[in-house]
Amino acid sequence: MSEPRTRIRRLPEKAAHDRASLDAVLDAARVAHLAFVQEGSPVNVPVACARDGDRLLLHGSTGSRLLRTLGSGVEVCAAVTLLDGMVLARSAFESSMHYRSAMVFGTCAVVPDDGKVAALRAMSEAWMPGRWDTLRPPTAKELAATAVLALPLVEWSVKISAGDPEDPPEDLDAPVWAGVLPIVAAYGDPVPAPDLRGDPEVPAYLRGWRP
Ligand SMILES: Cc1cc2nc3c(=O)[nH]c(=O)nc-3n(C[C@H](O)[C@H](O)[C@H](O)COP(=O)(O)OP(=O)(O)OC[C@H]3O[C@@H](n4cnc5c(N)ncnc54)[C@H](O)[C@@H]3O)c2cc1C
Repeated sequence: MSEPRTRIRRLPEKAAHDRASLDAVLDAARVAHLAFVQEGSPVNVPVACARDGDRLLLHGSTGSRLLRTLGSGVEVCAAVTLLDGMVLARSAFESSMHYRSAMVFGTCAVVPDDGKVAALRAMSEAWMPGRWDTLRPPTAKELAATAVLALPLVEWSVKISAGDPEDPPEDLDAPVWAGVLPIVAAYGDPVPAPDLRGDPEVPAYLRGWRP
């Protein structure tokens, strides 16, 4: 029997096999790159993503190539990448990055009309917690223009790179700084829309958001 395609062969010590690690990576991600083959050519499309239980939700225009192709059952590999830091070793060869990444393989299911609003709500709340209920509901026209896909979290892998530079002993006396430069993502100050009416307050829930 052939090996599962999700088995990490290169640096397998960086593999995480528990579902909690997958969930943590997906929940911290805002963007997935969706790779698939269309008419014999590979394409790789970045889209917003959100985990909802055992599925990764994706959405877009019903007219887009991406949504139509993946909705027809074409196989996809979704990759999510979080960059956490630069590892500065004493040589360029040993220098690297801290990251958390996941790949999910499978085929997407089209979320039916009666599940669409709940799925869109789940996505909105993943990206902008607390906001959905303050907004008007989607119109029938908006819903008809939007396709939602669900990629099941069945076949997946997670790779996590962390830790200190690993220089060989002969490099340790090199007169260069070595260590880790963490990457910290943060939102900036809110910028009001130029056409904002009534001067409403910046919502308090924004303060808890993390990119
Ligand atoms: C931010 C970032 C930067 C990187 N930079 C480099 C680089 O410059 N050069 C380089 O060679 N590699 C880099 N990697 C690692 C790269 O993603 C691959 O893991 C590595 O190249 C081995 O690929 P492979 O197909 O030979 O792995 P294999 O181990 O043969 O892949 C087998 C299976 O393991 C799983 N897998 C492999 N890689 C990952 C992953 N990253 N995340 C989740 N599952 C995975 C997949 O299911 C895959 O089908 C980087 C990763 C990240 C996240």
